[in-house]
Amino acid sequence: MRSETKTIRCNSCEKEFSARVILQIDCAKAADRSIDLSEGEPFLFTCPHCGAKMHLNHFLLWVDEQHTVALCNLADEGELSAVEEALSALVSFGKAASIRRRYLSSPAQLWEKISIFEAGLDDRTVEIVKLYMAEEVRRAYPQKTLTDVLFVCKEGLFGFLFRCPDGDLTVEISKEKLDAVSAQFAFSEPSPQRVDAAWALQFLTGGKSC
Ligand SMILES: [Zn+2]
Repeated sequence: MRSETKTIRCNSCEKEFSARVILQIDCAKAADRSIDLSEGEPFLFTCPHCGAKMHLNHFLLWVDEQHTVALCNLADEGELSAVEEALSALVSFGKAASIRRRYLSSPAQLWEKISIFEAGLDDRTVEIVKLYMAEEVRRAYPQKTLTDVLFVCKEGLFGFLFRCPDGDLTVEISKEKLDAVSAQFAFSEPSPQRVDAAWALQFLTGGKSC
């Protein structure tokens, strides 16, 4: 784990305080694995002056050697150089051609990617299935407004969480179905560094082969 003490301004009382900000998590280390990403623990801060709890997005590099993944959560594009610096410090892993690097911009996206790669899935498959399923949900529930769709893995079961202002929906999906889609597309390597809904749409409409 790599962290830094930073000054944070409370968004409630507006006073400043110092807090330890986690910048890098290494899955191979037991202490790092105890950090709860599902609840966005590294992004949650408590103001010592007024007790307010707040979520703040910040740079966080997640390194998973076992699944050959480097997930880079960026609060702004200016942090791209910090990724290069951090990865080059990881001598053997940082230079491996097999690393799948992904750029993300929120704790929710980071947790989603962790869930996908830990389940041994290809996130390109997940994004394509997500598009199709979002279309099905829109047809089945025309009165609902989808604000976000996230892959979720709970007790070994896969599904998609459809975020809606008037109540979320969860739809299960089997590993067999995901594997069948993966086999159908036979993605080539290396994979792109941003795999999201925009990538899936471009891929499916023939904008670019990946
Ligand atoms: Zn405060």
